[in-house]
Amino acid sequence: MRAEAGAAPDAALDRFVVVDDVWVGEWTGPAVLRIRGGRVELVRRAAVASAGGQEAAGAGGLDGWGAGGLDAAAAGGRDTAGAGAGGSGPHDGAGRVVTNVGGVVLPGFCDSHVHLGLVDPGALLGGGIARVVDLGWNPTVIASWAHGAAGTSMPEVEFAGAFLTGVGGYPSGRSWAPDAAVRQLRDVAGALAAVAEMHRSGARFVKLVLHTGDTEPPGAADARGDGGVGRGGVDARGDAAVSRGGLTDTVARAVVDEAHRRALVVVAHTEGAGQAERAQQLGVDRLAHTPFSERLSDELIAAMADRMTWVSTLDIHGWGDPTPEFAVALDNLARFAAAGGRVLYGTDLGNGPLPVALNPRELDALTSAGLTAPQLLDALAPLPPREVALSRLSRAPEPTSSDFAEHDDLIDLGSRVSWVPTRAPADAAELPTWLPTARVVAADDLEEIRA
Ligand SMILES: [Zn+2]
Repeated sequence: MRAEAGAAPDAALDRFVVVDDVWVGEWTGPAVLRIRGGRVELVRRAAVASAGGQEAAGAGGLDGWGAGGLDAAAAGGRDTAGAGAGGSGPHDGAGRVVTNVGGVVLPGFCDSHVHLGLVDPGALLGGGIARVVDLGWNPTVIASWAHGAAGTSMPEVEFAGAFLTGVGGYPSGRSWAPDAAVRQLRDVAGALAAVAEMHRSGARFVKLVLHTGDTEPPGAADARGDGGVGRGGVDARGDAAVSRGGLTDTVARAVVDEAHRRALVVVAHTEGAGQAERAQQLGVDRLAHTPFSERLSDELIAAMADRMTWVSTLDIHGWGDPTPEFAVALDNLARFAAAGGRVLYGTDLGNGPLPVALNPRELDALTSAGLTAPQLLDALAPLPPREVALSRLSRAPEPTSSDFAEHDDLIDLGSRVSWVPTRAPADAAELPTWLPTARVVAADDLEEIRA
């Protein structure tokens, strides 16, 4: 869109950027990125060559992704990339605008657990966060933010919509949780309707609450408290004593099955003894928090590592002054990561005094949990959803035919990427220092960045 609006002379030209390295689950080495339609795409070398460039030998980099077709640009930089006719920018011989910016590009850093309604989301881009997954808010409000994010000061937003919980269940009644952010599910019909509603609103996730506190009789102490906010969940209908048991397995399973039928990812908030295991048995895809209520057995963790993703949220346990739950969670996460489980960086932004930015304490905690450098990079810079969907076609949310046609030659990196001027350290322990030097860059601004 912007190409037509922006640059008359170059409107018909492909625009390419050459960088020193790109993270796409592994490092590519020197690579070519195409800027098109407000998105950044990693281009396979063969596709560059077939678009008019010559394949150059020895370009290096990951097999198939090197900067071979644009070697002149890579070697000479912007000013020697060729004197194309009539354009405002430098062109190579094939009439493409080529800019060598150097540095390192990763998919935009993603906080996979936020509540945008509880923070100033406009601060995130400047704080190094390009993308977020909102795990609980009024679906109408959050959908409007998600759809309006591109080209604004908002990060890219994916979301779950409302908390799906039992009658009177967490977080209903909490002062921070507006009624519109919670659906109290009474039965299977209610579960199906709620999942359909979230799907219609544009959610890619559903948020399922599995909370021991809800299975206790009224008046029982809340297992954890909630940042000092007292439990206010009183069922207006007066049937709390019978219904306060949170979601029954039947209703919870209906949520999971209906979400999967609609290709939505089920994220569970688990809290209290036995709830993490229950999530595993129910077929939940992702945990919103590293389990913190109890030490999970090695057997359970191994089973979870085979099929679940965990969002880290370690720093909420004390915000730098670690609580006993921090130690429990850290131990669980260390064993989950060691077993090969997939971890995503997430902070539960909106819960307590967290920086509205990349959180160095969360990064430090992840390295303390023993994540390898690739695990930590994947946690913070996962590929955008289209690529995730394509890697799991059976559950892809309606991929289009063009996704398949282009997929062999392209990896979509999203509308914003994270750019770092220097190469990444190989040692995971050094990543918490290197990662905060990244800047979030919109696709159409990438040519202006210089190492
Ligand atoms: Zn949360």
